[in-house]
Amino acid sequence: MARLDKIYLGTNTKMYKTIADTVDYLMGLNAFTAEVPRSRLELFVIPSFTTLDAARRCIPAVKISLGAQNMGWEDEGQFTGEISPLMLKEVGVKIVEIGHSERRHVLGETDLQENKKVLCALRHGFTPLLCIGETAEQKELGVSDEILCMQLKIGLHGVIPEQAKNLWVAYEPVWAIGVNGVPATKEYADEKHAVIRQTLVELFGYEVGSDIPILYGGSVNRDNAEELIQMPNIDGLFIGRSAWNAASFSEIIQAVMPLFFARKKSFKSLI
Ligand code: PEP
Repeated sequence: MARLDKIYLGTNTKMYKTIADTVDYLMGLNAFTAEVPRSRLELFVIPSFTTLDAARRCIPAVKISLGAQNMGWEDEGQFTGEISPLMLKEVGVKIVEIGHSERRHVLGETDLQENKKVLCALRHGFTPLLCIGETAEQKELGVSDEILCMQLKIGLHGVIPEQAKNLWVAYEPVWAIGVNGVPATKEYADEKHAVIRQTLVELFGYEVGSDIPILYGGSVNRDNAEELIQMPNIDGLFIGRSAWNAASFSEIIQAVMPLFFARKKSFKSLI
C-alpha cells in the first residue's frame, strides 16, 4: 500500500499570517525539516490566497506542497469573491482544501457545493483535500457514522476510481476544532477513520479506496500527536494552531515520524 510509504502532515493557516509572516514561516519550516527525506514525508501548508505567489517563490514545491483554502467550481464567470482553478494553477498550488468546517458551518457551504468543487479540482489536476466531520449535536444524537458516510457519498459523487487516486480526506470533527475544541480521543478518531476507510472502499473498490490518505485534524498538539499517529487507521495529521510556529510544528513532525514508520513495520509483518 503506497499510502503507508509516507506520512501526511500539514496545516491550514486560516485567516492568519500576512505575506511576510507566511514567507518567514515557510523558510523556517523548510530549514527545520531540511534533513527529513520527502520520500517519507508529504509536508503541506495551506496559507491565504494573497500569500500563495510569494510562498511558491520562496520554497521548492518538492519540499513543501502548497494548498488553497477554497476554490470556486467554474473556470471563470460572474462569481464575485470566488477564486478560479486557473488562478490557483498559475501560482503553483497542488492541494485544494474543500469543505473545511468553517466553510460549512460559518459560511454555510453544502455537501452539494463541496461536490462541485471536488469534481472541478480533479478536472484541473489538483489534489482535493476533502474535510468532513460531525457536529457535537450529531455526535450526541449517535449519527456520526451516518453523517460521515453522507458527506463522503455526496461530496465524492461522480468521482471515478481513477480520479480518486488523487484524493485526500481529512476527518475533522467540528467539536474538536479551534480554541473551544476538545481533541478526539485516539480511539474515537481511529474508529471514525475506519468508518471513512470502509466508505471509500465501498465507493472506489479495495485497491483505490484503501490507498487514499485519511488525516485527523482537531486540536492536535505536541501532547496528543504521538498517540494519534500510532493508531492503525490514521495516515497523517492536519494541524491548526499548534503548527503555526515553524519550530513547534517541526518538533511535532520529528516526534511522530519514527512512531508512524514503526507502526508501518509492525503492520507489514502482519501481511
Ligand atoms: C482546523 O481548523 O482545521 C484545525 C485542525 O484547527 P486546530 O488544530 O487549531 O483545532
